Amino acid sequence: MRNFQLFIDGEFCPAASGETYESINPANQQVVATVAKGGAQDVRRACEAAQRAFDGDWGAMTCAERSAILAQAADLIEERTDEFAELETLDVGKPITESTGIDVGAAVNYLRWYASVTDAAVGETIPIPNGAQVDFSLRDPYGVVGGIAPWNFPLFLAMLKIGPALAVGNSIVLKPASITPMTTSLVCECFAEAGLPAGALNVITGPGGVVGEAIVTDRRVQMVSFTGSTEVGRRVIELSAHNIVDTSMELGGKSPNIVFEDADFDQAVAGAVFGLLLNNGQNCIAGTRLLVQRGIYDDICAAVAEKLDSLIVGDPMDPDTQLGAIVSEEQFEKIMHYVRAGEEAGATIAAGGNVPDDPELADGWFVRPTLLTDCSNEMSVSCDEIFGPVLVAIPFEDEADAVEIANDTIYGLGSGVFTTDADRARRMAAALQSGTVYINTYNQVYPQSPFPGWKQSGTGVERGFEGLLTYTRFKNVIQDISGESIGWF
Ligand code: NAP
Repeated sequence: MRNFQLFIDGEFCPAASGETYESINPANQQVVATVAKGGAQDVRRACEAAQRAFDGDWGAMTCAERSAILAQAADLIEERTDEFAELETLDVGKPITESTGIDVGAAVNYLRWYASVTDAAVGETIPIPNGAQVDFSLRDPYGVVGGIAPWNFPLFLAMLKIGPALAVGNSIVLKPASITPMTTSLVCECFAEAGLPAGALNVITGPGGVVGEAIVTDRRVQMVSFTGSTEVGRRVIELSAHNIVDTSMELGGKSPNIVFEDADFDQAVAGAVFGLLLNNGQNCIAGTRLLVQRGIYDDICAAVAEKLDSLIVGDPMDPDTQLGAIVSEEQFEKIMHYVRAGEEAGATIAAGGNVPDDPELADGWFVRPTLLTDCSNEMSVSCDEIFGPVLVAIPFEDEADAVEIANDTIYGLGSGVFTTDADRARRMAAALQSGTVYINTYNQVYPQSPFPGWKQSGTGVERGFEGLLTYTRFKNVIQDISGESIGWF
């Protein structure tokens, strides 16, 4: 069994308390690793090391030197793709093909992009009405950045914090989700081997209420990048008031995926299924509310149900498996609770709604992909983020009705529109209240594409060039070039 320690000041070490906890494989409930249970003292040490690195070797590096280290780390992660993918699957329960092809591939791809933009956060020259002076702005790194990540894409989301933070010259103290710590720890080995100075990257595993809160409130931490639930995000924003630090919040979602009668039928069905099921529905931007125009509602629902029923739910390590395990018992119970609540509220289970009958899966937390029809937007299954393979199908009459239902949510992370009418597509993109709008596709991500959350799905922007700037702070400089003294006295 593997043992994962904290990574502080370039060294792996046990928690100051000596405490550990176990990481469980959700596919069979077996213990796969012991993990150091960090605490406030460890966070303090990590923040001190991060500050030293920023004030020392790391902060003194040029853009080109930072770029070389990030690129080298990406190569080293890629070389160990199979190891990373196996650990990700053992921790999260996602199919090994997904861990290999999507999670590790995307992490490497994004890190390479961050390596290519270490010199891109440039300032501007600002015209002022005084020829004797110049005004220009700088984009400075914050210094020590705090990162807190969720469990659904542990490696990829860790990279979305480490990559931009280091690219622009910050050091970072990062906390992965307690139940999925393994690949973030492995990342530290790759960065150390790539020559990252000690203290520039620190990883502290341990409970969010202790480690996460200690990171947000440490006086050295100047900015916090949080990805997780809206509920915990609210707490992190409250805590950020302690030292008045900037925050970037990537929170939950309940995204509408809207199918018009003029859509390409097969494209819409594929978009509905993939929009829901990437990472088994445990995906912040998952299109979990399928809004279908009345005239094709029954046909689309029947086709989606047929597709869901045909998918292979199985051992995540089996390359034929399309849907693996749910990440934890708690998450499994939450999903089943919502399916029951939907039924009680009058929804019809058109697919799934149960666990697979394969006895080999009996010790794990598996749910068959589920479609609930006859839903209204007011039901709890339509309002709340379930974070599992559960799709609710809601009929709508016309474009105005679709927009009203789609926007009637506290969230605003993503939306999908399936239509062959280009004018309608543009009207919908303008009307939908979400940070991302997909048209005739879903779940596409690129390093260059920003990923903002609207409403209670977040604040600030991560990813893309705007996301890089999120890890810098703005400074304005006014310089006198006349050589004259200020003529005030
Ligand atoms: P979560 O419960 O909010 O936890 C996220 C992180 O916060 C974990 O590392 C957790 O630590 C930590 N944490 C818990 N309590 C804390 C506190 N009081 N102070 C500081 N940190 C604390 O979310 P999750 O269940 O891991 O992930 C699922 C959620 O993430 C969903 O809502 C999903 O939509 C969202 N998400 C959003 C995006 C996006 O880009 N918008 C992307 C991915 C996921 P522990 O693990 O130790 O509890």
